Amino acid sequence: MAYITLNKNNFFNNLDIIANRTKSVDKIALVLKDNAYGHGILETASMAQEYGIKKAVVCSCKEAQSVERFFDYILVLGEIPTFKSDKVRYTINDINSIEKFPQGTKVELKIDSGMHRNGIAIDEIESAFLKIKEAKLFLEALFTHHRSADELTSEWFWQKENFKIAKQKAALLAKEFGFDALRFHSSNSAALFRESDFDEDMARVGIAAYGCMELPKALHVEGFKPILSLFAKKISSRKLNRGDRVGYGGDGEIVKECVVGNYDVGYGDGFLRVCAENGYKTPQGIELLGRISMDNSSFLSNEKTILVFDDARVASKYAKTISYELLASLKPSIKREVL
Ligand SMILES: *Cc1c(COP(=O)(O)O)cnc(C)c1O
Repeated sequence: MAYITLNKNNFFNNLDIIANRTKSVDKIALVLKDNAYGHGILETASMAQEYGIKKAVVCSCKEAQSVERFFDYILVLGEIPTFKSDKVRYTINDINSIEKFPQGTKVELKIDSGMHRNGIAIDEIESAFLKIKEAKLFLEALFTHHRSADELTSEWFWQKENFKIAKQKAALLAKEFGFDALRFHSSNSAALFRESDFDEDMARVGIAAYGCMELPKALHVEGFKPILSLFAKKISSRKLNRGDRVGYGGDGEIVKECVVGNYDVGYGDGFLRVCAENGYKTPQGIELLGRISMDNSSFLSNEKTILVFDDARVASKYAKTISYELLASLKPSIKREVL
């Protein structure tokens, strides 16, 4: 089976850079959705705990439950409660969902500051507060998400301004409604690193922690290191001659006598098939030959083990996608080892 290694030193290096920005480790909420961006949710949660991270963000209740023991605070982004835990907070994404939350649930209200994906409009805040009070929920925070923080446009400023208005409105209303002081957060990785003087209550950081944040040149941040490497083991090898063809459809053409190894990684593991269409090469410059099969890929190599990629930013270019998608495609069944 193909396997993954996780470089803990690189992870801690990335967390150091992030903590420097948030000015406190306690303000980092590590995003662990989708199996921690393919890194392995339990492996990543355990490393994060060792570093001193106290907060996590997940998508589902199941994910929250699986990492409950590692953190003091967990925010569920995408589901209505199916289990109760003092540590878990749930997101209100829609004003009409408020009555579905069980009484006593700790909730955070998502504000639509311009992305128009989830959240309530700024002029719905007051009616949302009323419903929250009626439903007897504990409102702890207001948050939003940026649609273009990683692009060199003014949209980030525009959404920030919208959220500022929401914050002011909510802070006043919270007093009126007798709610406790609210916490506020809006930054993902890119937004955090655009902010020169971060002053919110936490930042929800994913891709930067995994060392694969990509920003336009003008916003570039030095020092991040990817932590995930994917390796594959040789299943078999053969000598081939000029004119022979490798794999489905015979796409891999042999131009001179060579030894071709067949390795145990394929699209079934998350090594995206489209990579083969764009001349995939490993970090050591080893050429992929022909199409990627479900559990196999052939390379111009006879090594026992090859490194398929160690930087999802580079590998994702072959798939014409972003590192997020390549990483999230890596199947949970692949063995992950922390180095
Ligand atoms: C995924 C996600 C994040 C993390 O984004 P990165 O770009 O990986 O830092 C933050 N907030 C929300 C709501 C998300 O869905």
